[in-house]
Amino acid sequence: MDGMVHSIETMGTVDGPGIRFVVFLQGCPLRCRYCHNPDTWVWDAGTVRSTDELLAQYNRYLPYFRNGGITVSGGEPLCQMEFVTELFTEARKRGIHTCLDTSGITFDKNDEAKKKNFYSLTKVTDLVMLDIKHMDSEQHIKLTGSSVENVLDFALFLDGSGTEIWIRHVLVPGWTDDRESLTRLGTFTGRLKNLKAIDLLPYHKMGKIKYDKLNMTYPLSGVPECQPEEIKRARNIILEAVRKARLEEENKCRK
Ligand code: SF4
Repeated sequence: MDGMVHSIETMGTVDGPGIRFVVFLQGCPLRCRYCHNPDTWVWDAGTVRSTDELLAQYNRYLPYFRNGGITVSGGEPLCQMEFVTELFTEARKRGIHTCLDTSGITFDKNDEAKKKNFYSLTKVTDLVMLDIKHMDSEQHIKLTGSSVENVLDFALFLDGSGTEIWIRHVLVPGWTDDRESLTRLGTFTGRLKNLKAIDLLPYHKMGKIKYDKLNMTYPLSGVPECQPEEIKRARNIILEAVRKARLEEENKCRK
């Protein structure tokens, strides 16, 4: 099967465990203000690549992928879900660890036909790295153009399917770093049984250069980059909420 690929990173170290072969797919329905890959947004750019070609390319770098595997990122990879499912199915047959890096935005808990496809994908996915960009729907709309409900529904769906979950959250000063939002994030994620990690990513402006090249206005030009002490503060708030949520869940089970 063919997919529309934006680019390949053959030695990725930040998109899942170990050293990984990262496939960035073309096309995204969101417009995150802090996106550093606006060149992935449009649907009709990129290069057509088949799953066989990608796996052959993976094999050429095989000696480097100890403890790694394949990650599919984007853009939004769920917009090419059939392609990702086939790639991961073939990867699994070869014993390759599979990781999906997604916003979860295309999930719809009321669409049973679509949910079947999501089930097929989770069966061949070892790990999902799910971006929760904001817990508040209005703020999520301001930040990305879409509401957050599908993302949270997708997290619960994954949890029910037994798939390992890493939550990723970009800390943007003045946008996603207030105590209430971080506490809500910790409370929600603390209730996920299959949560393996929470990654806090500091907002930076390295993507601005792409906006300049594409002749686009950079949406967060007045926002400062996130500093290490802010990450520490946010992590403490989130972990406190996670601990509380876990304790509450344990108490519920005891009753
Ligand atoms: S989901 Fe990812 S690729 Fe899409 S706009 Fe947001 S940050 Fe960019």
